Amino acid sequence: MTYSAAEKDLKEALKKIRFLVIKIGTNIIRKHIENKNNSFFEELAKICAKLIKEQIHPIIVSSGAVGLGKDLMKESGMKSNTNFKNISISEKQAFASLGQSLLIDIYRDAFGKNGIPAAQILVSKEDFQNKKHYQNLKRTLDTLIQWNSIPVINENDAVATDELKVGDNDTLSELITGMYPDTLLIMLTSIDGFYMNNQKVSMLSEIASEELKNALGPKDGGIGGMRTKLKSAAKIMLSGQIMNICSGDNADIVEKIISGEEIGTWFFNSASRNSLSAKKRWILHNRHLTGSIYIDEGAKDALIKSSASLLIVGVQHFEGDFEKGDIVNIYCNEKRVAKGIASMSGKELLLKKEKPSKGAEIIHRDNLIIMN
Ligand code: GLU
Repeated sequence: MTYSAAEKDLKEALKKIRFLVIKIGTNIIRKHIENKNNSFFEELAKICAKLIKEQIHPIIVSSGAVGLGKDLMKESGMKSNTNFKNISISEKQAFASLGQSLLIDIYRDAFGKNGIPAAQILVSKEDFQNKKHYQNLKRTLDTLIQWNSIPVINENDAVATDELKVGDNDTLSELITGMYPDTLLIMLTSIDGFYMNNQKVSMLSEIASEELKNALGPKDGGIGGMRTKLKSAAKIMLSGQIMNICSGDNADIVEKIISGEEIGTWFFNSASRNSLSAKKRWILHNRHLTGSIYIDEGAKDALIKSSASLLIVGVQHFEGDFEKGDIVNIYCNEKRVAKGIASMSGKELLLKKEKPSKGAEIIHRDNLIIMN
């Protein structure tokens, strides 16, 4: 869909936004700090203060810890691995620790000048995979939002090793967006949107393989890249939320985006404007999948056309050692069609399949989302 065809719907949808997640990439942070351009952060803080008054709550997901840590050590001339070749895990973590404190100082200063306390939250993968951790994080965020302070979130790079990490802040910002309904996600980056055949795409309402093929990897200093951003955009749209990828050169772009101007690349699907429930959003964005269930065409139709639960009768086979309560993928003819919370473990499913009880429910309809 083109921007002009969707403009009216988009502007209507933006009026209903209650939360705003702003993801700021490493290159943008570094650039503004290098140029001694603290006005970027102050302008951003001013805009956020205005939004809070309008009952739109901003949450910042900020990269830059490792990058700033490196810059800091290089500038100081102190002993460290400043040629940045063969950086060990502990050196990377040490850079992150140094950079993160500088990063939060910058936010605290800029937001403090506008009467908003900035709060640091450092997360890792477990905070999104484990339901209890997830709810705990959500409660902290809710309280900070209630107090009109601004959460500034990053990965806990100083201690988390790769296998404990979400991995990149594009995905992290998607996960945070999934925690709230009626949320707009703005990714401030070093390019002004998504390009295909050298042309900027002003709006996408779905992500096809063609777009993914054209999406490039990360630029120097960052981790995610355009491909990761588009994958996140697909999930954002599936849950009825809105996203924009744009240039982070000037903070005032945030206001222009909130008013729906033709800027950056919009990801908006007016057909999926019904926001999913909190539980379904958790299932959708969760990446910790412990099993795959393969179903027949009849069961697929029942799930998609009749919004039914998944019953044992439609299960052909399954893989993985999943427990009751785990999230599993559901495939039909090698294509993923849904994701859901298993009502029983794989072991139980195996026993039940041996003694078929046709009605046994594998995934309840309230715990299931269709992925296409
Ligand atoms: N968490 C990393 C940092 O602060 C950045 C991750 C990313 O760029 O996606 O250095």
